[in-house]
Amino acid sequence: MHFETTAIHAGSEPDELTGSIAPPLHLSTTFERDESGETPRGYSYVRDGNPTQSRLETALAAIDSGAAALAFASGMAAGSALLGSLTAGSHVVLPDDSYYGMRVIANDFFPRWNLAATFVAMEDLDAVRAAMTASTKLIWCESPSNPLMTIVDIAALATLSHDHGALLGVDGTFATPALQRPLELGADVVLHSTTKYLGGHSDVQGGSLAFARRDDLYEASLHARHITGGVASPFNSWLVLRGIRTLAPRMRVHCANANAVATMLATHPRVEAVHFPGLASHPGHDIAKRQMSDFGGMLSFRVRGGRAEALAVTAKTKVIRRATSLGGVESLIEHRASSEGPASRMPQNLLRMSVGLEHPDDLVADLQQALG
Ligand SMILES: *Cc1c(COP(=O)(O)O)cnc(C)c1O
Repeated sequence: MHFETTAIHAGSEPDELTGSIAPPLHLSTTFERDESGETPRGYSYVRDGNPTQSRLETALAAIDSGAAALAFASGMAAGSALLGSLTAGSHVVLPDDSYYGMRVIANDFFPRWNLAATFVAMEDLDAVRAAMTASTKLIWCESPSNPLMTIVDIAALATLSHDHGALLGVDGTFATPALQRPLELGADVVLHSTTKYLGGHSDVQGGSLAFARRDDLYEASLHARHITGGVASPFNSWLVLRGIRTLAPRMRVHCANANAVATMLATHPRVEAVHFPGLASHPGHDIAKRQMSDFGGMLSFRVRGGRAEALAVTAKTKVIRRATSLGGVESLIEHRASSEGPASRMPQNLLRMSVGLEHPDDLVADLQQALG
């Protein structure tokens, strides 16, 4: 089955009771038990699981070629359930440009959980190898990374992890399963902030984990979600499931539009550098070409000058909105250092753009007039 077909049909089978083609939304927080006290349909209480969330998890597992998937209240709820499931004393290797929330978990929570972290330039396999210790249980990577669009070789990292008896986890939010399926490349678990492309319309928060196997890691993450409560609500599950059904065609347009924008920026005299894996000049271009079917809708670029010059560009865009987040139908631009706050390590002249589904000519023209 092709990805487009799976994304539309998985978890969206007609409702058995009514035949409804659109997946039903079950808001009930509790489910009737039978006379013997059992839960004949498998549902008991909403935090344990509910029928709309089950549909979403069927879809999430299918689109990532996973054996199982879990839906969470946010990407960070998914990440903290996973990391919090590691046994005390574990060491984790993380990318030095990891999503800032993951960095904060490692810095603020790992000491309390008795976990240790080392941050490395994940695109350098020797650096990863050198960072591993006898207690390394997980290598965490992100490809493309946020916001510098670094590409790492997922298959090579999977081999490296497994040779050391560790697992490989991938934050696949930027690529989405439409363009890259880390489990097929050997990864053990993949995380998505479904708030982004899977939801796709900037109106739902969610996160997911898809697992290569229904094993201890899956069970531990399920237990963490059930008890600590970072579970996806039925309504949010329903919205993410709805988003997944149009993921493939949306990603095609995101990719084409981002390519048009990056191509224009690459030759613009006021632009110092463009970070987009689709450009042949990008250091990760060849790996991206191998492990992704297209290059995605995200890019970042450095404006000549500093903070003031970069902010001046965002002040002038008319079609492209000034906001953080990504993956919605509308294009967004942000000064990443401002969004991340004082702890940010981002260059002050860096702007990140989530290229939306508008006509590419309007986006290119808007950026050209804003760059002046
Ligand atoms: C947004 C994002 C997250 C966190 O997801 P939330 O849904 O905001 O909790 C994690 N990783 C990446 C790459 C993201 O863009």
